[in-house]
Amino acid sequence: MTVTADTSQLLLTPAKVKWFRSQLSLWATENLRKFPWRCTTDPYKIFIAEFLLQKTGAVTVVQVYNAFLSKYPTLSDLAGASVAEISLLLYPLGLHFRAERLHESVQMILKDYSGIIPTTEAQLLTLPGVGKYTARAICSQAYLQPLAVLDTNVARIFERFFGLQGNRVKSRCKLLWQAADEVAPISEVGKWNLALLDFGAAICTARNPNCDRCPLSCKCTFALTAIVIDSTYGK
Ligand code: SF4
Repeated sequence: MTVTADTSQLLLTPAKVKWFRSQLSLWATENLRKFPWRCTTDPYKIFIAEFLLQKTGAVTVVQVYNAFLSKYPTLSDLAGASVAEISLLLYPLGLHFRAERLHESVQMILKDYSGIIPTTEAQLLTLPGVGKYTARAICSQAYLQPLAVLDTNVARIFERFFGLQGNRVKSRCKLLWQAADEVAPISEVGKWNLALLDFGAAICTARNPNCDRCPLSCKCTFALTAIVIDSTYGK
């Protein structure tokens, strides 16, 4: 079946969404990971963390994040750094274009936003290297705004659990962004976003998801389909 924005409403029934939220929130109370950028609401620190986290695992980022903030503890400190200096610090993470974009973004923040990390999704989207995910992650973590995020890990959970079928490029899939907004609770969305990210990293992993110890398995479309296929073929 092709899942469109309309048919997705059949898959995201209020009862199923409510159950998903409650189970995942319960899981998060015991399992959220601790990272230095999760212990702060300082917009500059979160802005730096989100830049470093782009296409890079959180565990890999910790050391570089700490070194970065000890060298450039504030935006004004970073403003005087050259692209080469930033690049040297980010070197262990690869993706060297990040240094250039970060440098450009900082100059723009100084010029257009009086040195203050922009406070809205629309403003953040004007910065080089900041897409919808990064903008919303900053808004929800630093400014506690109720904005859901979607990356490939979050998309995978929605597709498997609700039986949705997003486009190949998940970050640009309207259907999945709509699902992310619909499924998010009305309060503590920042914490909710972290729960989804950690659940995708620990349980609903890309390869070999841990359905046998997943609190969502009894209502998960993917897991239930696998059971039907197994019983049909006698495995
Ligand atoms: S049951 Fe399996 S596929 Fe479904 S959400 Fe849990 S880990 Fe993911």
